[in-house]
Amino acid sequence: MPVVTKKKAAAKKNVIKLKFDTNWSYAPAPESKSAASINSQYDLFINGGWQKPSSKKYFNTINPATEETLSEVADASETDVNKAVTAARNAYEKYWKKIPAKERGKYIFRIARMIQEKARELAIIETLDGGKPIRESRDFDVPTAANHFFYYAGWADKLEYAFPNRRTEPLGVAGQIIPWNFPLLMAAWKIAPALATGNTVVLKPAETTPLTALKLAEIIQESDLPPGVVNIITGAGATGAAMVNHPDINKIVFTGSTEVGKIIQRAIAGTNKKVTLELGGKAANIIFEDAPIDQAVEGVINGIYFNQGHVCCAGSRLYVQESIVKEVIRKLKDRIETLIVGDPLDKNTDIGAINSQQQLETIHKYLKLGKQEGAEMYESSCRLPSKGFWCRPTMFTNVAQSSRIAQEEIFGPVLSILTFRTDDEVIEKANNSPYGLSAGVWTDKGSKIFNMTKRMRAGVIWANTFNKFDPTSPFGGYKESGFGREGGLHGLSAYVNLIG
Ligand code: NAP
Ligand code: MG
Repeated sequence: MPVVTKKKAAAKKNVIKLKFDTNWSYAPAPESKSAASINSQYDLFINGGWQKPSSKKYFNTINPATEETLSEVADASETDVNKAVTAARNAYEKYWKKIPAKERGKYIFRIARMIQEKARELAIIETLDGGKPIRESRDFDVPTAANHFFYYAGWADKLEYAFPNRRTEPLGVAGQIIPWNFPLLMAAWKIAPALATGNTVVLKPAETTPLTALKLAEIIQESDLPPGVVNIITGAGATGAAMVNHPDINKIVFTGSTEVGKIIQRAIAGTNKKVTLELGGKAANIIFEDAPIDQAVEGVINGIYFNQGHVCCAGSRLYVQESIVKEVIRKLKDRIETLIVGDPLDKNTDIGAINSQQQLETIHKYLKLGKQEGAEMYESSCRLPSKGFWCRPTMFTNVAQSSRIAQEEIFGPVLSILTFRTDDEVIEKANNSPYGLSAGVWTDKGSKIFNMTKRMRAGVIWANTFNKFDPTSPFGGYKESGFGREGGLHGLSAYVNLIG
């Protein structure tokens, strides 16, 4: 809350000065866990029902904010992957490719509406299982997941308009493997366009965040979608590898690290499988001296710190024009101090828990490296909870273009700040990265925006905003950020053969 102080001289002229006191705090506003029901154990969702894993093995999924176990989920072996693929193949051949497109659309609409009905529960579970603030899961993840189903439901019976003068044919069975940073949203990105185009699905969520995908399986079961059209199986990397290597899968759709993306590409080389890879990123966010600075600073904060920096398109490399660098750094420091780190279920929280111990160790490795490389580190002075995995919002100044903290994906609330003088210089620096997923430009000049976006090698470029998503816009990368696009019309074409 701003504290209003009337200084004598100012009062004379009837001017009220606002001074921001950063020592205030909000009263806790935790969302209730009781609105979410989580089973103590989950089996595999195969052929419209729940099947025990053939290995009889289960693994725990924990709440990274408390380290408490939330549930245990089945570990799918190659035998289970086989069962799921067989169910998907039968569903594809027997009915899904045959039913009228309009009927496919109705099922997808139903799933979208059911996600909306269960939005509160899904948001709570997403936050408990993954550590992200409830504000993010409630206001972004869950509504955007529902929007993807709505959007692609609309396309199901209009494919001839999506691809004028061409006929489309589904690919068959899609194997979909997703990461832990947007578990429900990534499942929606993958399942909705696959179903709309007449494909059936086997989906594997990440090991640390399986619960919302399993809740989605419950929704799918309740929606009466024919058995086997969507199968959801849990497991670790080996389960994903068994999917990638399965001979009866026609398309692999993967979102995750560049490292695993490369393994997948090698594994399917020489086979008939198609593939879409959405991989890592190291987005350049560029502030010119003519930009609205306060707005840009807020965009930078939103782009890297909210969601703990667990965002593939996070603006983790900040390029600031030299003439304004002092001002921008001062404002960023002030703003970082006000970010609320803590209980992800609290509606005031800006930065929740780091997803896993392993990810926290990766972030710490980079913090150490940044200091060794000679950069100056600044972190918020906030206190961290004693249990769970946490990282203060951190930024590095004096970062060299060649530093590893400027080149490699950290995937945490860590910003590397670099400077530039001219347009040409910043374009060269921004493009000098193995990645090319996203970028941002902050300037007052429309012509500069067009000039920059034309020359930058990134799949998505935001201008005077950051991290904005919509089901109608395609998303995907250049270079080591992968290939293929998801979202929009491009997202449909990833699941069809075009004929004629
Ligand atoms: P990851 O380690 O690559 O895992 C992604 C998924 O692949 C998980 O389900 C994982 O299972 C599975 N997997 C692991 N090894 C596999 C293998 N050999 N074969 C097949 N599947 C395998 O990535 P992550 O750490 O979960 O996610 C973070 C990464 O995802 C970051 O690099 C981020 O940039 C990227 N990402 C990209 C986008 C995009 O749209 N471009 C969006 C979100 C995230 P386990 O969980 O059991 O290991
Ligand atoms: Mg978890």
